[in-house]
Parts: sequence; structure tokens; C-alpha cells
Amino acid sequence: MAKKLRIGWFTFTCCEDSSIMFLEMMNKSYFQWKELLDFRYCKMLKSKNVLDQLDVAFVEGAISSDREKERLILIRSKAKYLVAIGSCACTGYPSAQRNDFPENIKVKIEPFLKKWNLYEKVLPLDKVVKVDDKVDGCPMVEPVFVKVLDKYLKEFKIIS
Ligand code: SF4
Repeated sequence: MAKKLRIGWFTFTCCEDSSIMFLEMMNKSYFQWKELLDFRYCKMLKSKNVLDQLDVAFVEGAISSDREKERLILIRSKAKYLVAIGSCACTGYPSAQRNDFPENIKVKIEPFLKKWNLYEKVLPLDKVVKVDDKVDGCPMVEPVFVKVLDKYLKEFKIIS
């Protein structure tokens, strides 16, 4: 069987619009990608997923709790490369906009942070783990995503 790029797609604190874009792109690219990509973990596409060794983990969203932090560290440990997808993953914002709330608003959201065990400050991925590539944009910039995907398809000799 032809070798495929083993990928995972994960989301954390965010609105998941880059995931929607990824799905939309499949209207055009699914049958091509199907031959090149092994979707090891992609809840948008499959109900049964395994988090085993990945060539590339694509991660959308920012980190806002210990639970998310631990999960991201686990994903990092399974992936040869990790790509931050979208502005929230790359910079924390806009998911991190509450980091800049004035004191009088912070007091109001405090009970919610406590209730859900959320960090006071929302973090971009690279504050928690090593990030190898970034696809910025809100949502992600499609041509940049295609370029990054191409780069790894070549690196793992899936395409030449
Ligand atoms: S970067 Fe924009 S589109 Fe992507 S998850 Fe954050 S808010 Fe949503």
C-alpha cells in the first residue's frame, strides 16, 4: 500500500472555523487527499479515532485550562511535527481577548473561570509546546495551509 502522511486534527478553545474551512476544502480535495493522507485522528471525519504516532498534528485553538494543556502535551509527544492552525492557536487571539478585560469586567467573569477551572490568561500553543509551523489567519489562510501541507507531504516523501 502506498505510504500516506499520518495526520491528526485537534481543536481547543476556539470557534472551530478553520476546521470548517478544512472540511470545505475537502469538497475540492478529498479524493486527492484520501490517497495522500492517513487521517489517524480527525473527529470531523470519523467517529473512531486513535491517538498514536503522527507525522503531523494540526492544532486549532488556544489553551485555557490544565486539561487542555495536558492534552496538547500528549499530542506533541505523539507527533513528529506540530502545526498551529489559525490565529487563536498562533497568537491566542481572539480567543484570548478576556486576557485584556478591565478589572471591573474580570471580576464578573471570575466565577465562570473558577467553575470551569479555566486559566486567568488564555495561551497560544507555543507557550505550552514547541510549534513547528504556523498557519495564521482568522480563520486560517487557505493557501498558506496548502503550502504547509505540501511541505510535509514532500518532507515525508509522499509526493515529490
Ligand atoms: S482564529 Fe478565528 S476562526 Fe480560528 S478559531 Fe480563532 S476565532 Fe475562530
